[in-house]
Amino acid sequence: MIAQGNDMFSTIRAKLTAGEPLSLEDGVRLYESPDIHTLGELANIVRERLHGRTAYYNINRHINYSNYCVLRCKFCGFYRALPKETAARNADTIHDDGGYELSLAEVVRRATQAYAGGATEVHIVGGLHPKLPFSYYTDLCARIREACPHLHIKAFTAIEIIHFTRIAKPRLSIAEVLTQLRDAGLGSMPGGGAEIFDDRVHDEAFQNKVGEAEWFEVHRVAHELGIFTNATMLYGHIETPAERIQHLIKLRDHQVESLRSRKAHFNTVIPLSFIPDGSAMAALPGPGGLDDLKTLALSRLMCANIPHIKAFWIMQTPKLAQVSLNWGVDDIDGTVVYYDITKREGEGTTHQELSVDKLKRLIIEADCEPVERDTLYRKIIRDEKTWRIEGEPWSVSYDAAAAHIANNGPVVPLTVANDR
Ligand code: SF4
Repeated sequence: MIAQGNDMFSTIRAKLTAGEPLSLEDGVRLYESPDIHTLGELANIVRERLHGRTAYYNINRHINYSNYCVLRCKFCGFYRALPKETAARNADTIHDDGGYELSLAEVVRRATQAYAGGATEVHIVGGLHPKLPFSYYTDLCARIREACPHLHIKAFTAIEIIHFTRIAKPRLSIAEVLTQLRDAGLGSMPGGGAEIFDDRVHDEAFQNKVGEAEWFEVHRVAHELGIFTNATMLYGHIETPAERIQHLIKLRDHQVESLRSRKAHFNTVIPLSFIPDGSAMAALPGPGGLDDLKTLALSRLMCANIPHIKAFWIMQTPKLAQVSLNWGVDDIDGTVVYYDITKREGEGTTHQELSVDKLKRLIIEADCEPVERDTLYRKIIRDEKTWRIEGEPWSVSYDAAAAHIANNGPVVPLTVANDR
């Protein structure tokens, strides 16, 4: 058995050294091997070839504009159904059933507060709201762009983009929706909604959500328009190891085409560890730490043509994200601040924040060099008064951003309604 294992690792090492893509069989055998140390070493061959000992973080802020959704994905503990008496529901209020939606003013206030605190990015996603018009989303981008000129707006998953094509009046194509959002200020797109690219898993766990073909179509059009995107994989529920590996191969194949013939491509693969709490699949155990580590390493190995692999510490925990920096990962995301979609195990709050000092400490302890990046992985240079992107002629003054807050009021916590 040991000889077979050694043979397998030698073959894979030779493929990696030659720059050859790994096969589905390679991926499954690596997943099934108990030798996670060699798996990490192999993943680090790719990681260090691309990034040396650099590990990236960013200063960002997540904003989830609403959890009302027309769908009911089984793995999702975030969505709420919008009750029939919607006219009586106020924005910026958490109702008894947990449902909420943010006014544009509140979204802009949160973005501006983040900007004044030095954030370079807002990450904005939400449920598929049954009533908000398409103009809400274009206005959201335009108003943030006006208030925070250099804040990068990374927003809307592929499923939200498809939703917008359907709610726009008249209906719009994917290219028209993306063009209007980009013209309003959208900078790039996150990678959510991919889940697992497999018909069986799709039909069992998120049947009414867009499938693989539409997800890739949105990202293909985005890449043709020059909009960079990310790609996720929600793992650890009902999929098999082979289905996970196949998902990664499909991302890699799409990237080949984007790199060859499109203006933009995938920047980052973000494997998302399934958190069962609050979902219709709460009886499942969810992945353990070894499974997390293997999946992050395999993402690096299978998708060697996608520049970055991110451990999202909200899901994999800060400690495991730190360990993964030596298992193929080069990015541990950012400060986040609020994240409503899932909560860390054992914690009931959506206030989930890591300070810059803590992010840097996690990276340094892993023997890596911390580099603050913007959304597109350009280096951020800071001093006491300003930040700027390396090579750009402009800089952002914290004082100017803070003055904007003074004129527009602080972020107010959501009101808790008593609407029973
Ligand atoms: S995963 Fe997204 S689309 Fe599915 S129910 Fe949750 S919020 Fe809605």
